Amino acid sequence: VVMATVKGDVHDIGKNIVGVVLQCNNYDVIDLGVMVPCAKILETARNEKADLIGLSGLITPSLDEMAFVASEMTREGFTIPLLIGGATTSKVHTAVKIEPNYTGPVVHVLDASRAVGVASALLSDEQRSAFAQGVRTEYEEVRVRRAERQREVKRQSLEAARANRPVLDWAAEPATTPSFTGVRAYDETDFPLGDLVARIDWTPFFQTWELAGHYPAILEDPVVGESARNVFADAQAMLRRVVRERWLGTRAVVGFFAANSDGAEDILLWKDNGGRSTGAERTPIAVVHTIRQQMVKADGRANVALADYVAPVASGERDWIGLFAVTTGVGLDARVAAFEAAHDDYSSIMLKSLADRLAEALAERLHERVRREYWGYAPNEQLDNKAIIHEQYQGIRPAPGYPACPDHTEKRTLFELLGATERVGIRLTESFAMVPGAAVSGYYFWRKAAKYFGVGKIERDQVEDYARRKGMSVREVERWLGHVLNYDAR
Ligand code: SAH
Repeated sequence: VVMATVKGDVHDIGKNIVGVVLQCNNYDVIDLGVMVPCAKILETARNEKADLIGLSGLITPSLDEMAFVASEMTREGFTIPLLIGGATTSKVHTAVKIEPNYTGPVVHVLDASRAVGVASALLSDEQRSAFAQGVRTEYEEVRVRRAERQREVKRQSLEAARANRPVLDWAAEPATTPSFTGVRAYDETDFPLGDLVARIDWTPFFQTWELAGHYPAILEDPVVGESARNVFADAQAMLRRVVRERWLGTRAVVGFFAANSDGAEDILLWKDNGGRSTGAERTPIAVVHTIRQQMVKADGRANVALADYVAPVASGERDWIGLFAVTTGVGLDARVAAFEAAHDDYSSIMLKSLADRLAEALAERLHERVRREYWGYAPNEQLDNKAIIHEQYQGIRPAPGYPACPDHTEKRTLFELLGATERVGIRLTESFAMVPGAAVSGYYFWRKAAKYFGVGKIERDQVEDYARRKGMSVREVERWLGHVLNYDAR
């Protein structure tokens, strides 16, 4: 079995777990690692006479790369089965976007526990054709159902959605001026590893290990409780060493910029921080492009875009936006390499999963200090970890690539403004994945009305408008936003 995380993506915990499970079941696994170009995957599969190819990826642009690998497999005359896995992959996406590109069998594998069943069925002379045919029929049904859904779900025009945007009372909630403007970087002297432990959200840790349930209840779960307790105990033991022996470095960068929305979906960032933002003649130093919900709303609810949380130029109000990027991946690769050299896959996967948790915990700690000190709009906040995990703080920190702002390409502006690569060593791949992978980046919106949301599916009118605002072709926008289009691009 040849396995790889596709070009542009660095996430590999899920793939590594699948690899271990397959190896334990006597499969010979060739793992090509992360950011693997299509040509290398296919060349290896050919040279090693692979029986299966497994592709993995986490961020949405990887879905497109997987579809490309599938089409290349057809072009090069491959017939072996193609397995698809990873957090953003789904049966629907595999059926709609990947399977039609490949003449051989394509199967979406939900998690590692199913990988062995799928692989053995596809490699068995008795089961192969019936299994492959069953999947093919199922995926055809998935495509038909999706097309029906697309016709049924009502969207409104961008114009109508804009008319239904939330309008805040800007004068009633004057902006707090941040304690500094411009960009500052922090490291473990400001954010020591030990301080992050209390801010870890453990529920996603168990998801990573494919154990379903919420922490702490999961530890007592009748079905997965024992496994959960074991993996949790191992995590605690390793975490103590990570902290005591300083296995990982912490890096953070924050910037505050005077900003106004353009009254629609763009957020304009200003160079100068003084005065009121009435100067229509001023040129912004950068523009953050946001996307508006287009679903038809009931009960008088509004069609939101992140730009609605920033006072528009026309209001004459002065407002601010924050930007951030954090990583706890400094030193991770060397530790992981040492575990792998010792054939200790379990510890390697454990450390990566802990680094991901610590990165989210650092994002949480930083946000907390931003609210209380650096920006200072909530100086008296007192919240425990549970309240924080439930997002009970004032304001939000949406991250490009997530539901409120699904366009990964906006990270380019974010990273340039923060100088994130120079200041804290986080870089972007061609698919806008962050390297190291244990990283979080995003925007700070401070207002009480700012809540996390999802933009859902959008229509072609908004894609055309967005392309024009970004100076991209419609085709290019459709490629980056493929997963949120309510229509078939082509
Ligand atoms: N507590 C979870 C948070 C995961 S979400 C954990 O520890 O894993 C990862 C990041 O996405 C968050 O830190 C936040 O910056 C951002 N985010 C959360 N919900 C979002 C949404 N609806 N839209 C955009 N970004 C979001």
